[in-house]
Amino acid sequence: MIVKGDDKLTYSNFYDNGLRFQCQGCGNCCSISEGEIYLALEEVSEISGFLGISETVFEETYMRIVDNCYVLKLTGDNGPCIFLNSQGQCSIYPVRPSQCRSFPFWRENLTSGLKWHSLKSFCPGIGNGKLFTKTEIDEIANRDHYRFREAINWKIT
Ligand code: SF4
Ligand code: SF4
Repeated sequence: MIVKGDDKLTYSNFYDNGLRFQCQGCGNCCSISEGEIYLALEEVSEISGFLGISETVFEETYMRIVDNCYVLKLTGDNGPCIFLNSQGQCSIYPVRPSQCRSFPFWRENLTSGLKWHSLKSFCPGIGNGKLFTKTEIDEIANRDHYRFREAINWKIT
């Protein structure tokens, strides 16, 4: 995905020497009931194809609308993401949305070292494992931002 001029991350960064992160598979980030997982149009197509169902059935079964945007349903009224299975794993992992794929390298998590380290309270992957370079982190954050904009621009009118 090409990211152009104004879309690029421009923070003065605390992560010039990179950041360590490795998912530990705890499922906490999939269980935050107030967290919305936004869907871009092409993600609906990808996930429907992976599940072997039509986009219409996918929409009826797995999507809901928040602030005129399409997001994934929760389990029940206030539970985890509908795709978190009983083993605490993502059942659509190979085609999970960009928002999930790019976590924790979201722009809002990269505004300061304090913000980044605060994620440790629920994400045991922060500070562990692979060292991502600043370039890699900015690429992920910019790609996610671009995809997120696609998702929120795909509004119901
Ligand atoms: S909270 Fe962190 S470690 Fe747990 S599943 Fe999410 S990304 Fe992985
Ligand atoms: S789609 Fe998968 S990775 Fe994303 S929140 Fe749901 S269970 Fe977690």
